[in-house]
Order: sequence, then structure tokens, then C-alpha cells
Amino acid sequence: MAQRSIRIRGARTHNLKSVDLDVPRGRVTVFVGLSGSGKSSLVFDTVAAEAGHQLNETFPPFTRNRLPRWRRPEADRIDGLSPVVVIDQRRLGGNARSTVGTATDAWTYLRLLFSRVGRPYVGESNHFSFNDPAGMCPTCAGLGEVVVSAVERFLDPDRSLKDGAILLPGFGDGGYWYDRYASVGGFDADTPLRDWTAQQREALLYGGERAARLGGGVPKDYEGVVERFERIYLRTPDHLSDRKREVIARFTRSDGCPDCRGDRLKPESRSATVRGRTIGELARMEIGELADWVPGVTEPAVAPVVAALRARLDAMVTIGLGYLHLGRVTTTLSGGESQRVKTVKHLGSSLIEMLYVFDEPTVGLHPADVEAMTTLLRRLRDKGNTVLVVEHDPAVMAVADRVVEIGPGAGDRGGELVFQGTFAGLRRAATPTAAALSRPRPEPAAPRTARGRHTVTGATRNNLRNLTVDIPAGVLTVLTGVAGSGKSSLAAELLAQHGGVSVDQRPVSAGRRSTPVTYTGVAAAIRRLFARRNGVPAALFSPNSAGGCPDCGGLGVRYTDLAFLDGQETTCDGCRGRRFTAEALRHRVDGLSIADVDDLTVTEALHRLGDATIAAALGHLDEAGLGYLRLGQPLSTLSGGECQRVKIARELRVAAGPTLYVLDEPTTGLHLRDVDTLLEVLGALIDRGHTVVVVEHHLDVIRRADWLIDLGPGPGRRGGRILYQGPVADITGTATARALREAAP
Ligand code: ADP
Ligand code: ADP
Ligand code: ZN
Ligand code: ZN
Repeated sequence: MAQRSIRIRGARTHNLKSVDLDVPRGRVTVFVGLSGSGKSSLVFDTVAAEAGHQLNETFPPFTRNRLPRWRRPEADRIDGLSPVVVIDQRRLGGNARSTVGTATDAWTYLRLLFSRVGRPYVGESNHFSFNDPAGMCPTCAGLGEVVVSAVERFLDPDRSLKDGAILLPGFGDGGYWYDRYASVGGFDADTPLRDWTAQQREALLYGGERAARLGGGVPKDYEGVVERFERIYLRTPDHLSDRKREVIARFTRSDGCPDCRGDRLKPESRSATVRGRTIGELARMEIGELADWVPGVTEPAVAPVVAALRARLDAMVTIGLGYLHLGRVTTTLSGGESQRVKTVKHLGSSLIEMLYVFDEPTVGLHPADVEAMTTLLRRLRDKGNTVLVVEHDPAVMAVADRVVEIGPGAGDRGGELVFQGTFAGLRRAATPTAAALSRPRPEPAAPRTARGRHTVTGATRNNLRNLTVDIPAGVLTVLTGVAGSGKSSLAAELLAQHGGVSVDQRPVSAGRRSTPVTYTGVAAAIRRLFARRNGVPAALFSPNSAGGCPDCGGLGVRYTDLAFLDGQETTCDGCRGRRFTAEALRHRVDGLSIADVDDLTVTEALHRLGDATIAAALGHLDEAGLGYLRLGQPLSTLSGGECQRVKIARELRVAAGPTLYVLDEPTTGLHLRDVDTLLEVLGALIDRGHTVVVVEHHLDVIRRADWLIDLGPGPGRRGGRILYQGPVADITGTATARALREAAP
């Protein structure tokens, strides 16, 4: 008989303290705990990693090399696993050829439908694929867009040819092409272009016939600037150098394909219709409307295709994606939307006894949309799968068959199993999550007073209905509304019209050696302290320069690449992982070597290094709720939420004048208790005179807003309007108002 649980023994990945746990199979288990307590280390880096690893082992090395690589977790034993599907918030990779339709397979069914009953053209199904040469529009190769010269950027009308009026590289005086153009005859190289006639400028740009009509000695075979640019940069199919790429980016733009106008298909395919609609029209229809349209196709021959397509579209509506359209390019989706698209794909799968692992599936969902997501988790379970979910939302904990809490604290103070049982049992337990669930909601403080405003005018981005709206300065504004209502679009428009800083959750782009302290600038202060106290150069304490171990270049580890097998990372023998030379390690401050300092947590360092500059800078990390991070922990190991808080910490340190900050769902990855810390950090930004605007669904954050802007009423075309703007206390009649009331203490 099949094993009834996943048995984990002695899990020690990252901060886990030899965790033993049995997770029931065929059930929904929700993992809770403070941020940094070890939930991801257990669920993703231990259970999912081992499942992925074991599955990969069943393939021959050649195939294995093409599969996602899983780092083997640290544990004594894990058994009872199944093939694993990880559904996280990593954005869907891919390119302009990947759409919501192709990513969910809905497009495959639609193509099948057109190949069977499309009129007048009944091509094979691949003739309706824009990724197949048999179907793609020949003009744009199925991209729906073409790259065209941005001619308006080519010339500077205030300059003459001699002064470099042609801005393309190589056309200035002395440049490779200069002579050809300045001396071609007929062109006056000394007069600013603005004083030329329109025809003369036209001739310069387009040459040929137009130039010949000018007479005045312009040769008939003269090649216009635009023609030449396009010949050299756009029609040469060779490998593009970085420099060439840069020039292309500067002097071109994308434009809708003049032939297919975005339909991406060849003429016969794009004009075929089913029930009077072309496939391009259907690709642009909102998925909710499309789901209603599809059952109207009644030809018996395609009944199974219609049923399959319908089921797929209904699943997308259920999961809160009904406002998207199948033609939407996946690279433009948010993290939460990407995650829901991935989920749809698996809902349609008929595989059973799989292990599904979700990372905060409620991200991007309004409280009104969360129920649909929990229904779906249960549906996956009822098909016979095991579902593991890392989540902070009590609404998801409430539907779990079992809740597991990891804690009690974060980092070294976490990593233990502190509770397992039902949600009702958790509420009665003495754990940080139970305490947070039952704590009294803070009374909303009196709203702060605005110091001026940023006015967004005539916003029409995406679904916005020509909005003009004031964002108060110097206070906390929260943008609310159901998923797809237009919150991010308004935030983007605010940034575009007023400038400002967007603090997102994307990984901090930095090298392998970067840590929270190098990123926020504390590392330099620490090196100066060591130099001052020991009377030696500061560079000695940098792993990237003099002080770094020569064997590993200051990384502490060495990488060995074995063909066909996973790359191996081993601790460096030279420095035994400490990254520094023996000489650097000899010098101490208050008994600590520079490597010892790397091992301190932010909070410890704050207490042990008695230096005012360092304390101030570390204080910002601590204020941002990151006191548990070790100074030497690589940035690449931080979660999205942690990255965002490191960025905030840096802003606390560097921002000069009043700045406008825009944050998209900053509570992602945060435990109820950490949300309070986040609010304090945002408060610190405001106290320093900055303006903070956040897109949020978290009710605790909404309650603390000084100003609320609620968008809706629906998603997509049914949204894009302002339903309410004003203090939180006065909102009534919207989905957000209802959610606030229902969750009231
Ligand atoms: P949670 O998912 O509960 O927020 P994590 O499992 O991500 O917590 O992290 C638990 C602890 O392990 C934290 O202190 C975190 O900084 C640390 N950690 C996470 N990933 C790594 C890693 N790759 N290397 C070292 N430490 C890590
Ligand atoms: P919210 O932030 O409230 O979830 P968004 O502002 O992301 O909503 O989206 C509002 C509408 O605009 C949705 O219909 C969405 O599909 C559409 N949209 C958002 N980004 C893009 C984009 N890059 N391309 C096309 N449509 C988009
Ligand atoms: Zn085209
Ligand atoms: Zn070394």
C-alpha cells in the first residue's frame, strides 16, 4: 500500500534545526511562521528539492542536464515523495512569443477549433500558430510587431551637417560616413537643418527618387540616411555586437505590424472566422467574455474541443484571471498573475498523486478573490494530489487540512517545528502566529496631513479611464481594488508623470559577493573601522581586493563544473570558507576578526560594534525588520520580500530631498507580525518628509493609510475607474469597504 505521509527526518537546510515532520499525502498542508523562520527552507529547499532531485535521478545524465537543477537538501532522510510541481511567483520566462494563450494551452484548443470549423480557410492546426512557419505572418515573423526607424531621433535640426546634425554614429565631421553626406553636392553642409526646405530634409533622409527631383547635383543613386541605417542595422542578419544593439535601441522603436496589425498570422489564417469572429479578435477578447462565447460553437464535430477549451477558460475565470486576454504577452504579467497562469496549466492536468508546492498563492489577490484560490487548492487535493502551501493569509490557513508552524523566531532563532495540527488548534496554541491572529487590531491613528500633492492627469494607461487624481504628498496613500482593476497601471502612471522611486521585489542585481551590508554601504564603514583601529589600509579588509583569499577570490567557496552533472560547490581549502587571508584575519576590533563580523547578525553587530556611522547604517536594516540577517549572507539568497526591505533600508540611508516612493505589495512574504514592522519602516520614510504610495490588499496596511484610492469596480475593461478617494474611515459600498468591515475585530 502506498505510504500515507511524506516523512522528513533531520532536516538541516539553512536555519532548520534537525526538523522531523510527517506531512500527510493527499491533503492540503499550510506552512506558517515569521518571515525568515525557515518555511521556504523546509518546503522548497528541502521537500521540493529532494523530490526534484529524486525524479531527476531516474533520467540518464544527458537528459538530466536539461532538467532544472536541484540542490540536494541537508537531511538525514526524506521519503514518501512524488514528482513535484513548484508553482512560485517567479515571472514566466519566455519572450514575445509566449502569451497567456500559449502558456495555458488554451491557444492549442482554439487553433484546433479553427482548423476544424474555420471558414473559408480550413488549414491544419499549425496554420493558426504564430510560432510555426506554416502559420506566421511573413512580415513580422509572427511577432505582431516590427522594428522601425525612429526617424524623429535621427537629426538635430539646430545643427548643420558640419556640426553633426546627423546623430547616428559615424556621421559627424570626420566620421566614416560624413564625407559621403556632407560633400555629396546639393546639400548645404554649413546651414542648420531647420533652415533647409522640407524637401531638402526629405531628400537627405530618404534619398533616391526624392533626391533626384531636387536636382542641384544630388546623384540619383544617393542613398538616404534612413535607407542606409536600415540596411546596415536592421537588414544585416549577422550576430549583433553590443554596440550595434545599443544603436538599434536608440534609433528604432517597435510598431504594430502593418500587415497583420498584431494578429501575428498569415493572411488566410487571420481572415478565417468561426461564428463570425477571427482568431485575432478572440485573442483580444477578455477571457471571461470568451468563456461565454465559446459554447455558442455547436458543430458536433468539435464538441470535445469546445468542452476542453471551455473548461480551461472557466478555470482561468475561477482563479481570477478572467480580465486578461489570450493574446497578452506573459512577460508583462505581474508575479501573482504569472503564478495563477502556471496554476491553470496544472488544473487541466490529469496526472494524480503529484506533489504541488505553492508560494503565497494569494499574492496580488483582493480579499474578495481569495476564496476562488482556496477552492482551487482543494480541487487539486480532491484529484488525489498532495498540496503544500507557504502562506500568511489566515483565509488560506482556514481551509488547510493541517497547519504547520516553523519558528519561533527568524534566522537562528527559528528553524524549529513549533506547531502542527488544525487551524482551530493553532488559534488556541501559544505560537507567534496564534498570537498575531488574536491580537487586537490597532485603532486607526488620525490620518497625517498632506504637504502638497502630486496630480496625475489624463491617465489612460492600460484600462485607466482618463483619470485625473491627486496623490497627497508626505503621507501614506494605499491603492486598492480587485486584481486587474488598474492599481499598478495608476502607480506606473504616477511614476511616469512625477518621477520617483519604485521599490519592487525583484532581486537586487549585484554580484555573487554582494551582501546586505555591501549594498547599503555599511561594509565600507566597517572596513574603515578595522583600518583605523589597526593602523593598516582599509583594502586589507575587502574580500574583493588585498584581503581576499587568493584561492577562491574571496568567495569562500569554489565551483567545479562536471559535464552532465550538477555543478559542485565546495568550501575553499585555502581559507576554510572564511574568505579572507590569514593576514587580514589577524587584525581585530573588540576581539572580532573581519570574518567574525561577517558571521554576526545585523542586530548583534549593532550592539557589538561601537561606531556611530556603522550603527546608524545598520540601524536602517534593523528598522526594516532585517535584524536577523547575517552581515555576510549573499543577496542572492534573499527572498523577494527581503530584497524589497533591503532596498528600503538603503533608501532610508541615501535619500536626500523629499522623494516619492511607490511599492507594489510590500507585504508579500511577510507574517502578520512583520507587517507591523513594515508599517513602521514606511512611517520612518514619511517622517523624513517622503511620500509613500503602496499597492496593497493587506487589510492591516489599508487600515493604516492616510489616504485611500479604491479602483474598480471590476477587472480589466470593467475597471479603471476611481470608486473612492479619501480617508479610510469613510469608505462604503465597494468590495474593499466590505472586506474591511467583514474582517473587523
Ligand atoms: P521563510 O520562508 O520562513 O521566510 P527562509 O526559509 O527563506 O524563511 O529563511 C530561513 C533562514 O535561512 C533565514 O535566516 C534566511 O536568511 C536563511 N537563508 C535562506 N536561504 C539561504 C541560503 N541560500 N543560504 C543561507 N541562508 C539562507
Ligand atoms: P492591478 O494592479 O489592479 O491588478 P493592472 O494595473 O496590473 O491591475 O492591470 C489593469 C488592466 O491592464 C488589466 O486588464 C491588465 O490585464 C491590463 N494590463 C496591465 N499591464 C498590461 C500590459 N503590460 N499590457 C497589456 N495590458 C496590461
Ligand atoms: Zn505581421
Ligand atoms: Zn578561499
